[in-house]
Amino acid sequence: MFVVTQYIPDQDGCLRPKVPTVGPCEHSDGRPCRIFSDHDRERKTGPCYPIRVVRCRTHNKSFTLYPPGHVPHGRKSVGNLAENGSSIFGLTGTERFKGTIFDAALDADKQLFWPLENGDFHVNPNIVTQANYLNRSKELLGIQPDISDEQRFIISHILMVSVTFLLDAANRMLGKVDLQTQGQIIREILEKIPPFESSLFERFVAVGTYLGRWAHLHVWDPVHQYLIPSKVAQFYSLGTRASPG
Ligand SMILES: [Zn+2]
Repeated sequence: MFVVTQYIPDQDGCLRPKVPTVGPCEHSDGRPCRIFSDHDRERKTGPCYPIRVVRCRTHNKSFTLYPPGHVPHGRKSVGNLAENGSSIFGLTGTERFKGTIFDAALDADKQLFWPLENGDFHVNPNIVTQANYLNRSKELLGIQPDISDEQRFIISHILMVSVTFLLDAANRMLGKVDLQTQGQIIREILEKIPPFESSLFERFVAVGTYLGRWAHLHVWDPVHQYLIPSKVAQFYSLGTRASPG
């Protein structure tokens, strides 16, 4: 299960999560959740940023608490969010993607290639990291080679970019394409993504959920003590219900 919550610095400056009082299992059988912190998973990047794994003893489910902007199996954020999880307003164009996994593509587009060797690759990104982030960016945008045109159609709805544009971009990615061109294609799509009232992060999460990369996102609101299912399902069903005409 995939839960995003705020991480707040403790007295030692280590980031610690606001632990939800309920899990995504809360409506499964009418019994109240009992949430316990199970363990902290140390991450290779950044000191003092362990990721908390919690467990609901009532429903016997574990889930990991990710910081805002982060998705499972990734060290770098996919969405540019404030530390409290709110959207950052006032950014335009590709500025909206600075500090995220898309940096790899925006750099490649400008022929800025990350170093071949850069010490410990867990800490310092290198060219392999950059290529890896380019591949993950393609997945979030629906232009990787191994999905169908129908899937690209749904993803174009989720991201609100034209399906013809996305299909064309996916075609241009086929075969041997150098890093700079890959970066350019990704940058062109990022520029086409319209400004949303809802967060870009949730849109990218919706793509991953639709492709089965991770579960549905739930976001913990510590002020109101609600676990809110992301509007992911809404974007997703809008796409799947779309009919001709
Ligand atoms: Zn539960």
